Amino acid sequence: MEPYSIASPATIMKITRLTAKTLVLATLAASLAAPPARAVDDGTFGAAAQNPASPRPQGPAITPQRIDFRVEVRPELPTALIEADFTFRVERTTETVSVFLRPDMNLDAIEDADGVPLTYRRRRSRIRISTPSLAAGDVTTWRFRYRATFDAPLEESGQIVLTTPWYPHLRVTADPEEFQRFVPMPMSITATLPDPWVLVASGTNTVRKENGATTYVWRDSVPNQTIPLVIGRFVEDKKLATVGLARAFLDHRNRSLTKSYVEYIVRVATFFSERIGVLDRRSWNLVAVDLPETMSGLTLPGMTLLDVDAVSRDMAFPYRLLAHEIAHQWWNSYIEIPRARDAWLREGLPTYSSLMFLENEYGTRMMRQELERSQRIALSIASPEPLEIGFDMSSPEAIYALNYHKAAAVLHMLRQVMGLDKFIDLNRALHDLGEDVTTPVFVRLAEDIFAGDLSWFFNAWLRSAEVPSFRVRYGYERVETEMPRYELRGVIEQQGATIRYPVRMRVSLEAAPPLETTVWIEPGSADFSISLPSPPTGLQFDPDGDLLYRGEVSVEFVDPPAGRGQVP
Ligand SMILES: [Zn+2]
Repeated sequence: MEPYSIASPATIMKITRLTAKTLVLATLAASLAAPPARAVDDGTFGAAAQNPASPRPQGPAITPQRIDFRVEVRPELPTALIEADFTFRVERTTETVSVFLRPDMNLDAIEDADGVPLTYRRRRSRIRISTPSLAAGDVTTWRFRYRATFDAPLEESGQIVLTTPWYPHLRVTADPEEFQRFVPMPMSITATLPDPWVLVASGTNTVRKENGATTYVWRDSVPNQTIPLVIGRFVEDKKLATVGLARAFLDHRNRSLTKSYVEYIVRVATFFSERIGVLDRRSWNLVAVDLPETMSGLTLPGMTLLDVDAVSRDMAFPYRLLAHEIAHQWWNSYIEIPRARDAWLREGLPTYSSLMFLENEYGTRMMRQELERSQRIALSIASPEPLEIGFDMSSPEAIYALNYHKAAAVLHMLRQVMGLDKFIDLNRALHDLGEDVTTPVFVRLAEDIFAGDLSWFFNAWLRSAEVPSFRVRYGYERVETEMPRYELRGVIEQQGATIRYPVRMRVSLEAAPPLETTVWIEPGSADFSISLPSPPTGLQFDPDGDLLYRGEVSVEFVDPPAGRGQVP
């Protein structure tokens, strides 16, 4: 996800206001869906009411196999009629099944495989369904009939968007540390709509036109955690590439842009497939919709939603935003990062991945510009908090500036410390891991691949909120040898933090091309010396801007030179 307007630092206040609203929405959705916390969640997987004397059965009572929707929308009405055929396998004999459905979906009936209505009790999002005894191993299909109501009819609003789970689903046991998680399943969505309305979901679709109406059938063979549904008037373009089928659905006024969006999706998805790892997904759908004022982008498995305002002929192409959103197909969709406190990975990895794409595609200069912007936003927070607390930070400003931007700056420094090859290996290892990514998992893998302790790096940047500032003093002396040599000696003083870091130094020389080398920054102060073939005429600290620090670095020439106890 990306809050609105990532273009200009002048809009930070706007961003943070918008982020605040996003979080309110997200929190609202979570609280609508969340069951009351208790030690034993008896309904999460549809557990049965059992003989109290028998030991509590382990594991889920049912597991979903697939879900098939028929959606009926009349453009003049603010309602969608939905039938969901939910197919599940019974894991152990049961007479009660619990499923979840968003409370704003008006439930009309639940029928068993023979069309016989089932009785149920509904409490907020949880529905407890009584059933004739189901035997372990049975696979059966129940039909849910319900209605979704919108603020305005399709004709008036121009679009319908459903993202947070609006269909019968099961949940993984709620962990207070984690975002809500749903049990994935393959799906199909069928709808017949009068022209020119178009339905878009994730996966790929088939279309049948008849008498001024079009029947859309969307299927996602990759199990979905959250199934998106969008209806609107769209123009479409698509391209089949080695990564799969990329499609863009844009407003008809932006018809001329569709091709460039499709091309861009293919390039980004190809790069991340090579750099991070191949996904089991073969479809990439982009839809421009009117997102809540709070966000500019949102990615669900198989579908990216961009705000219409970001996709317009009048706006600069959203290079960074779209690459960030596509990166979420890896970070969060395929590679799950479920804990709220790991938000620095959840948003930092897509942010930095997007920078690596820009670097590869458009060159170092564009990447440096974007990195510098992230560093600037990271430093805009007056009372920073440590990255390790993630979404628990006290203000939406801090959540945005630190988890998106400081995290990206920290990941860039980690790349400098590990070296590019090992940093890429780390990305691939996270992809291949096959388990949830948390901060401890990330740190462990980074240390394994680096083949050394990195606690000095992670403690400084994750546990501490401090950002250092620096002062450098240096001078030089002629060293008498057979050939004339000069020794540059200096000291780097660090204030406000205690980091170690291999910083680059560029020395310009009187009678030779500039020389670049690495010296280590240490907590407090660190002496350094550089052997030179010619007298130095200048010294640049961190010339490429890899390091995150506050203020300007004062670089002062002193005579006699600093360092080795001779600091004036
Ligand atoms: Zn994001």
